[in-house]
Amino acid sequence: MTLDTSTRLVHSGQGRETGSPSTPPIHTGSIRLSAGDADELDYSYGREGNPTWEVLEQALGELEDARALVFASGQAATFALIMALTEERSRLCLPSDGYFGARLLAGMLQRCGIESVALDLADLAKVERALDVHPSVLWAESPTNPFLRVLDLEKLGRLAAQTHTPMVVDNTTATAALQRPLDLGATAVMTSLTKSSSGHADVLLGAVTTRDEGLAERVLEWRTRAGSIAGPFEAWLTLRGLRTLPLRIACQSRNAAAIAAFLTEHARVRRVHYPGLDPATRALAKRQMPGGGGPLLSFELDGDSNAAVRVVRASHLVRPASSFGGLQSSWERRARWPGETAPESLIRFSAGIEAEADLIADVESALEAP
Ligand SMILES: *Cc1c(COP(=O)(O)O)cnc(C)c1O
Repeated sequence: MTLDTSTRLVHSGQGRETGSPSTPPIHTGSIRLSAGDADELDYSYGREGNPTWEVLEQALGELEDARALVFASGQAATFALIMALTEERSRLCLPSDGYFGARLLAGMLQRCGIESVALDLADLAKVERALDVHPSVLWAESPTNPFLRVLDLEKLGRLAAQTHTPMVVDNTTATAALQRPLDLGATAVMTSLTKSSSGHADVLLGAVTTRDEGLAERVLEWRTRAGSIAGPFEAWLTLRGLRTLPLRIACQSRNAAAIAAFLTEHARVRRVHYPGLDPATRALAKRQMPGGGGPLLSFELDGDSNAAVRVVRASHLVRPASSFGGLQSSWERRARWPGETAPESLIRFSAGIEAEADLIADVESALEAP
């Protein structure tokens, strides 16, 4: 019997024996008792492994039919993956409008001899030339953040394969519930579980998923040696959140699409960015993310940064906050972050699971702020 991903996700890691707990226990404890020199314990010291991480890793693996490794944060996962992939190559091609934290980290790795190049990944000819010149790692992200541009991962994967370049996809925005980069040519996926995957804005955690066992072992070694491990409680909370990811992200996608449509018609809004809105990538968005466009959208206000600040402050329901993917809708003026290249009046909106009409009423009244 082949079960749907959502079914496997709900049941993964849970025994059916009489008397077994209905949820996996949280294993704390940094050490396990030893029988002496000859014992071969799986978990003798906590940095090497923990049964609570492993049930989460199993569930993440179910989602992507891959091996999953969890980390203390998305950035910790990014770091380990970059270090593992640059053992044989020293150049990193990153999207020029991708997550700014990855670009900042890549910049810091220059001192380790890792060169990074920022590229527009929609320009496939340019990507092809860049990969031809020098052995590289291609770091892709789609939809991009905060412009929500949809990139053709299958075509990027083909270009990467031609030059034996490993391709990584940062799948944080869509999550594996909406998009499966490993089926489109990615060697590995990095997901910040801090966002939609855990979904309740109460943990920081990250994951690397891959079907390449050798790569998984090297990434694991970076995690163990550098100690960028997850806390057991965070892993447990994330597992609990992950089980409802398909439900939540479907609802968030519907809300986000409705708000994007509303904003498109609004006189104070200059531009709206949401997967599927741009006619040039509409068909691609449908094909690559058949289950919906995800929780994130962004829009540019017809006005300056102060006008955007006033709108963000004027909401009663939508929470003024960074990050995204939580149950409650939130928004922020993105250019408040140093290092972010978004336009001054761009507001990034994360749709939660509230009733659509309540969200639209709140956004409408906030847009009336002077
Ligand atoms: C948040 C985020 C990250 C980093 O994850 P952390 O858990 O905050 O370290 C990476 N990529 C994207 C797209 C993100 O939104």
